[in-house]
Amino acid sequence: MRKDIREIAETGSWSEEILSQLLSLRGEAQKELLLLGGEYLQKYRGKEVYYRGLVEFSNICTKDCYYCGIRKSNGNVERYDLSDDAIVEAARFACRNRYGSMVLQSGERDDPHFVERIDTLLQTIKKETDGKVGITLSLGEQTEETYRRWFKSGAHRYLLRIETSDESLYRQLHPDNDKHRFHKRLDCLKTIQKVGYQTGTGVMIGLPGQTLNHLAKDLLFMKDFDIDMVGMGPYIEHEETPLYQRRGELWSPEERFLTSLNMVALLRLMMPDINIAATTAMQAIDPVGREKAIQAGANVIMPNITPSNHRKDYLLYQNKPCIDEGADDCSNCLSVRLEMIGHKPGFDQWGDSPHFFSRQ
Ligand code: SAM
Ligand code: SF4
Repeated sequence: MRKDIREIAETGSWSEEILSQLLSLRGEAQKELLLLGGEYLQKYRGKEVYYRGLVEFSNICTKDCYYCGIRKSNGNVERYDLSDDAIVEAARFACRNRYGSMVLQSGERDDPHFVERIDTLLQTIKKETDGKVGITLSLGEQTEETYRRWFKSGAHRYLLRIETSDESLYRQLHPDNDKHRFHKRLDCLKTIQKVGYQTGTGVMIGLPGQTLNHLAKDLLFMKDFDIDMVGMGPYIEHEETPLYQRRGELWSPEERFLTSLNMVALLRLMMPDINIAATTAMQAIDPVGREKAIQAGANVIMPNITPSNHRKDYLLYQNKPCIDEGADDCSNCLSVRLEMIGHKPGFDQWGDSPHFFSRQ
């Protein structure tokens, strides 16, 4: 089996049909697929795993995605917005702990004050860390002007998950209004790439109504789009969201997790030189889920460096891990975990995706 998959990987003859079949692998055949994903990672990217310190600086959001715990209409969320000082301090923490990069993530807002604030913050962080810390933004859909402005002020990567590349499934996951249009999100992703960011996307895995065919198309979408980095992981339900009503249609958490591992391994085979994150949602289902994702081909982890008193309020889904730990705890525990699986932290490096440079 491994020989067959290797041949497909070497010839690049991926199709929706083949990918759907491979996504369903379990048992010994799955083990072989995951080992091959890990082998490709070692061959094309080495043993280093890059850290992106994640700062979830605000849970205030103007959108209402049906799956997300911090959606605008959830009245049971205590809303917060970290001070600029706290965000800059998190950047200093990343620098002191030799994390090559940080990610600024929040609910989606596009008011002029927000745009201006991020612009100033980017310049401050660059100054305070002597430009050492690479900055990824994950702030949702914005205008081309805003993307350009933030790029100029020092952000060089942008993460905007397409969530699903299937328009009709997308429509089932979002309200039917202009703030939640599939084509708007797709256009934003194209703009991000055009502006010059290392461009990241991703999908949720195991959504109600989603099939292996949808996921196979997602993988082909990422390849066709020439994406530089990917963050994908299992969908996890949250009681206070509309999608919770469809929990009866869900695959078991284990199935969502195993399919996520296959997604990681297959994407590594399809795009050997990109960055793939071992996401927190994988750890939410399996305590060593991130390690398993790395063994299957992921090479980025995003330790949470949000001040811990606010972590409990950024609850996208239930059972989110590490909400009680401080950033230091996360940092120590991660290095040990990496060494245990034969990998090492890519300290002090931005860890850019070579794919980005090859498509310039
Ligand atoms: N607001 C920005 C956006 O939507 O792009 C960035 C923050 S948003 C919380 C980051 C990601 O969280 C989304 O792209 C989505 O894939 C993921 N997410 C939200 N709810 C989730 C859930 N219930 N299970 C798994 N992932 C979820
Ligand atoms: Fe807001 Fe992002 Fe959650 Fe959608 S996924 S509700 S945009 S935070």
